[in-house]
This record gives sequence, C-alpha cells and structure tokens, in this order.
Amino acid sequence: MDISLRNARLADDPTTMLDIGVADGAIVALQTGLTPGVRDVDLDGRLVCAGFIETHIHLDKACILDRCRIERGDLSEAVAETARLKASFTEEDVAERAAKALRKCILNGATRMRTHVEVDPVIGLRGLAGVRRALTAHDWALDAQICVFPQEGLLNYPGVEPLLIEAMESGVPVIGGAPYTDTDPHGQIDRIFEIARRYDADIDFHLDFSLDPETPDAPLDAEYVCAKTEAAGWGGRVTIGHVSRLSMLTPDRLAAIGDRLAQAGVAVTALPATDLFLMGRDRDHAVPRGVAPLHRLAERGVTCALSTNNLLNPFTPYGDGSLIRMANLYANNAQLGRLSELADCFRMITERSATLMRLDDYGVRVGAPADLVVLDHQDPALAVAELAPPLMGFKAGKQTFERPAARLLHP
Ligand SMILES: [Zn+2]
Repeated sequence: MDISLRNARLADDPTTMLDIGVADGAIVALQTGLTPGVRDVDLDGRLVCAGFIETHIHLDKACILDRCRIERGDLSEAVAETARLKASFTEEDVAERAAKALRKCILNGATRMRTHVEVDPVIGLRGLAGVRRALTAHDWALDAQICVFPQEGLLNYPGVEPLLIEAMESGVPVIGGAPYTDTDPHGQIDRIFEIARRYDADIDFHLDFSLDPETPDAPLDAEYVCAKTEAAGWGGRVTIGHVSRLSMLTPDRLAAIGDRLAQAGVAVTALPATDLFLMGRDRDHAVPRGVAPLHRLAERGVTCALSTNNLLNPFTPYGDGSLIRMANLYANNAQLGRLSELADCFRMITERSATLMRLDDYGVRVGAPADLVVLDHQDPALAVAELAPPLMGFKAGKQTFERPAARLLHP
C-alpha cells in the first residue's frame, strides 16, 4: 500500500468512517482497520470525494479583467468586448492565462474538467493550441476534455466551420455552439449535430441564454435540441448550458420541460456566477435572478451540474475557481435550505457532473483512479453551507496540492 488515508467519510454515507488504501495510482481498499501504507494520513473524520468537476469553463478568455471594459454588463457587451480583445490573443498569452485559471481550479479541488474553446477566423486555432499547452502542463493534477465552439455565429460567419472541422480532426471530443449569436439558431444546432455525428463527438450548447418569455413565436431552443437528440440517437451525450429562460417558466411548464429533457437524455449546466451577473440588465428594479432551477429539473430525472463558466472577464468579473462556492451560490440564489437540498448541490459538482461528462472511472471506489480531495468538513450538505475548504488533493495517487486548515492562535 502506497498511501493509507485513515478515518475518512464519503459523501454517500457520511455517518461512517473508513480507511482508503491507494497503490499504483488506484484505490485498492475501502475498509476499516487497513494495514499501514508507506504513507499514513489520519483525516480525523473528514470528507473525501473524487474531486470537483468543472463541466463548463472558458480557460481561453479567463483572467482578462485588466484589459477589458465593462459598462452595461450585459451579454452582448461581453461577447463584443471579448471579440475585440480576442484579435490580440497569442498562443502564449492564452496558455499563460489558462494556466493561471487551472491553478485556481486545482487548488480549489477540481480533478476533472470540460473546457469550452472559441474557434473562428479571428482567433483561428491559437486559443485551442494555448489551452492544450496549459492542460498538458497540468495533466499531473487534472484530466480535461476540450469542447470547441463558435461564440460569434457559425452559419453567418464564413470561415468558422472549416476551423471547427480542423479542430475535430485533431481529436477534440466535444463540440458546442451558441445559437443565440447566429442569424439562424436552429440552422446552427442542425450543423453542430451533423459534425458531432461525423466525429462521434458529444455536444455541449450554450442555450436559451436570455430571460425572454416562451411564446409560440419564440419557443425554447431546449425543445428543439431534445428533438434533435432523439432523432440522432444522442441521448446522454448532449448538454445545454445556462438555459436561463427556464427561470421564467411557471412550475407546471418547468416540470413539463424537465420531463422532456430527462426523456431525451439532455443534461443541463447552470453557471450561477455568470447568469446572475449578465441577466436582467434591462431592468432597473425587481431584477430577475436568471439562474435555471436545476433542483426542480433534477426532481424530474434530468442530469444537472453546476460550473464556474468564466473567471475575471466581461462575462463574469469575479472568481476563484471554487466549485463549492458555486454550489453555495446556487443554493443561496435558489433559496435552498434543507440538508437534502444542499447535499444535492454537492452532487451537482461531483457525481452528477461525472454522469454529464460520461466519466466511467470517477468515484471513490475500489478500482477507480486515486483521484481524491479532502474537505475540511464531515458532511457534504454542510460543506456546501459552510464553504468547506479543500485541504489536500491527489491525482492517480500522487498528492497535487495542500492547503492546511486554518487555525486560531490563542494567546
Ligand atoms: Zn460558457
């Protein structure tokens, strides 16, 4: 045994303590009274999970707050301002900023990630190359999937599609979209499904990212994506992010959409920091919250995840890469106070996120990789309530970070 983590608690049964044995980068034992390892760590009853999962984060445009303007603070300004800055992004610059963002995520307990990378004639494939460099430099701490997508339109923007194809040819496993910036939103969705089928890729759209009410003339794009998912046989491989329009539906209509998403196998990611910052900018009072009510969708069987989305840019001028903070922010915004609800928020940054990304090897169980993060708490619901800091993390059995617990120095 290389490492024995003693007196650990797991999120699915925090009432009992056990020891975690690690050998050759994998979890080899989960039991009480484990024989000592080469290294013995007493966790004193603290919670261990397989690490947090960022399902949706933009490393390529992270950490540009010092060079951008934020006047209106709305979505169109964020897209335009990033488009303006993007022309000057070099591969080196992207790699440096992506690395800075990655270090924040790793220190806050992330072990897995799906990162969205913009591809168009202005940035070319420089963003992709820079993000790849940063991910390779941090692969000792975190596994990542890249999702390429057109942020400023596909059908209306000549030159985007050949670059997307080039990226897919280079082995990118996920393709995304932002149909709301396209002159033909459903045309973009159709084209993304065609490319995904050609490359056997998963799909992750930015979708229904406004507070526009649902009307016969303005139906939810989510329903269109459900129909396309079923037609393609892509259930379980499609995610939609933001979907802030869901926050404007009546409970009955939301339940019906939840059933539809669950039936089609379409997952939903909410990005509370961004959604709260960008939505409702046309109101000067009684501003709607604009965050998709994931807990209501999860009740209907939808796979739901919470993620950071953006760090220190015009979409979200905040951020530390902490998913426990995103879970707390979501719970606070959604007015969730029951322990069962808070425990569900913990699942939306761990096991539900793994389902969304189809990670078969995620979890604290014998045979899984020894990706382990220790939190300074005993219980997942209270870890969300109290923003429990991660104390240490391991990737494939190698320790990746430490953040010793804060302590009082009584005179
Ligand atoms: Zn995004």
